[in-house]
Parts: sequence; C-alpha cells; structure tokens
Amino acid sequence: MKRKVAVYPGSFDPITNGHLDILMRGLELFDKVIVAVAFNIEKKALFTVEDRLELIQQAVNYNENVLVDSFNGLLVDYVKKVNARFVIRGLRAMSDFEYEFQMASMNRNLNKGMDTLFMMTSKDYYFISSRTIKEVTEFGGSVKGLVPEIVEKRLKEKFRLS
Ligand code: ADP
Repeated sequence: MKRKVAVYPGSFDPITNGHLDILMRGLELFDKVIVAVAFNIEKKALFTVEDRLELIQQAVNYNENVLVDSFNGLLVDYVKKVNARFVIRGLRAMSDFEYEFQMASMNRNLNKGMDTLFMMTSKDYYFISSRTIKEVTEFGGSVKGLVPEIVEKRLKEKFRLS
C-alpha cells in the first residue's frame, strides 16, 4: 500500500538525474512527493529558487504527483505544515552518511513523529552532485546524460557557453 505524501528536501541547484532517480523511486512508495527547495543561507546558489522550481517542474514534465515548493527555516516545521510524516533523502557515499545521520537524528529529536527514509543512489548516478555538475560545465566539460536536457541548456546559458 502506498502512503500519501513524502517531502524530498534539498538545494536542487540544479536538479540532476541523481535527484530525479530518487524522486521517481519515491513515487513508487508515495502517492505524492513534495520536492521542497530549501533557501540555504550557507550555500551560494547558482540558480534562484524560482528558477530551481521551474527546472524541477520541467524535468518531471509537470507530473501531477510531484509537487514543487520552497521553504525557509526548519525542515521539521515545513513537514508539519504540509501534514507529512516522511522525508526522503538520497545517499551516495559514506561522506553523505555522517551529515545525513546527524540531520535525521536532530530532526527526529525535534519532531518524534517525523521519519527520514534513505534511498541508495543508483550505480549510474553515485558520482553526481549539483556542485560537480556546475564545476564541470563552468570549465566546458560535458554533463550530457547526468542532468535533464533543460538543465544542461540552462547551465550552458549561465556560463555563456552556448
Ligand atoms: P542538500 O543541499 O540538502 O545536500 P541536494 O540538492 O544536494 O541537497 O540533495 C538533496 C538530496 O538528494 C540529498 O539527500 C542528497 O544526498 C540527494 N542526492 C543528491 N545527488 C544524488 C545522487 N546522485 N544520488 C542519490 N542521491 C542524491
């Protein structure tokens, strides 16, 4: 039986095929997944939050089971606001684990009713992060097949490579 809704939070600056893979797999467990773009004060973003939301919508072809939203502040507060209980996160390497473990534990401490589900990255995407995608594009390398086509196009425009 599918559960109703889960929140998939992150920076998504920009969305990659690694994110999409986790999102699509999440939709096999939940009727709806809310992709929640965090206003992150620590990370300097390349795309505005509005652009990131639009790129996600285009990347999922406006799938009606994918809701796209942004949030400020604590994830636990956002999860409460949208009446969700589960949060989805992707795991790549051991380096992700430490941070994710800390965040999931802290969030559970803040809200006992919330649970974080982790999905392992797929073999084709384990090396993809938004950061490396931006770096490679900036210096003229190809990210074909690693991000949706619309993202590839927008990245080239950003770095004036097209
Ligand atoms: P954050 O800024 O919170 O790390 P990201 O946008 O980088 O957010 O990623 C959101 C989530 O997607 C995180 O749980 C991250 O581990 C996961 N993720 C990112 N890239 C991949 C990938 N290639 N494979 C699996 N999970 C990924």
